[in-house]
Amino acid sequence: MGAERELDRRCFLAGAAAAGVALATGCASVRPAATAVRAAAVRTARVPRKLSDAIRGQVLERGTPGFLSAAHVYNERYDAVLPRAVARPVDAADVRAAVRWALAHDVPLRARSGGHSYAGYSTLAGGVVLDLRHLRAIEVDRRARTATIGAGAQLIDVYTALAGHGATIPAGSCPSVGIAGHALGGGMGLAGRAFGLTTDNLIAATLVTADGGLHEVDDRADPELLWALRGGGGGNFGVVTGLRLHARPLPARASYFFVSWPWSSASDAIAAWQSWAPHARDELTSIFHLETGGGTPVVSVSGQYLGPARALGRLLAPLRAVAGASISVGDQDYRGLQLRWAGCLHTGLAACHTAGTRPGGMLARA
Ligand SMILES: Cc1cc2nc3c(=O)[nH]c(=O)nc-3n(C[C@H](O)[C@H](O)[C@H](O)COP(=O)(O)OP(=O)(O)OC[C@H]3O[C@@H](n4cnc5c(N)ncnc54)[C@H](O)[C@@H]3O)c2cc1C
Repeated sequence: MGAERELDRRCFLAGAAAAGVALATGCASVRPAATAVRAAAVRTARVPRKLSDAIRGQVLERGTPGFLSAAHVYNERYDAVLPRAVARPVDAADVRAAVRWALAHDVPLRARSGGHSYAGYSTLAGGVVLDLRHLRAIEVDRRARTATIGAGAQLIDVYTALAGHGATIPAGSCPSVGIAGHALGGGMGLAGRAFGLTTDNLIAATLVTADGGLHEVDDRADPELLWALRGGGGGNFGVVTGLRLHARPLPARASYFFVSWPWSSASDAIAAWQSWAPHARDELTSIFHLETGGGTPVVSVSGQYLGPARALGRLLAPLRAVAGASISVGDQDYRGLQLRWAGCLHTGLAACHTAGTRPGGMLARA
């Protein structure tokens, strides 16, 4: 999608929600009047000429050591799209200072949490990327049953930290996806049938809007904006610095299963899965794999059950009934299960990050 169309989408969303301002500075026509006044005040305020003088975090300018790896997102397809700088704010005040700097100097800004946007929305040519990797603190309030998560936390760190508090959130299985892009846009995962999407569980966010304002958004302070953040997509209403989500109790028992069939059973397996999966218990989520990309075709189902493996014999009976079914199941602690789905069961937590985004990260970009 070209820059112009993308801007249109964001301006449209900001206007439709009438709840905040789009981060792109070209959305002036949809800014509420008070916000426009605040933005004008920022423009005329004394703001340092250089971004590195405006924020405390690191600023990697184009041409400096480390810039290229800092600029690249997960998808190598966007390697030629280079910002003029990547800034790594250290806290919400720093994010605010960066936004005010961008506003004062009319520089386009993009927020980046995990850099996994399929469409490359967390990078841009010529502007500044706000890489939120340093905002990754994770706290649990056991009494309130909530988790407060820094916008730059990666999913595997969220699962791990919450498990240490006997809690979890429903989210996807890719370990290095960032919580902010994930939660603001949806967030489907293997606990989703039991606990919903990640965004369903979002109850509050700290947000810096395009006028440099810092907002604590929840259903009392600003229900419209919270509504917009819950699924409106990242990058549309400002830069989120932290998110508060419902913390679900860590499942006491969890198990995994794999079922595979020979190619000759493919159509029967698909039919059996389609009539079974939507009616399975909410604690059970499965994915059908039909892979014919090369070599032996794969016809299989993988899944997670928030209960003991011994119950799977009965629960998977409709799949076992299809000719040639081969089934394997096992019990696993919930955190271990998330490492399994991430493909990191045998490499461990440190390696389970995209190389270059965290010390010890070993996962390759795609
Ligand atoms: C390999 C892979 C596996 C995936 N697996 C799953 C899965 O299992 N389940 C699932 O539901 N999805 C999955 N996704 C999709 C993923 O959830 C989305 O692409 C998500 O938006 C990525 O979030 P991010 O923070 O990593 O990306 P980013 O590229 O950093 O951000 C995505 C968008 O959000 C904006 N944004 C980022 N941070 C902020 C912020 N702090 N404030 C405001 N806006 C922000 C960006 O500007 C951009 O527009 C997967 C994607 C990939 C590439």
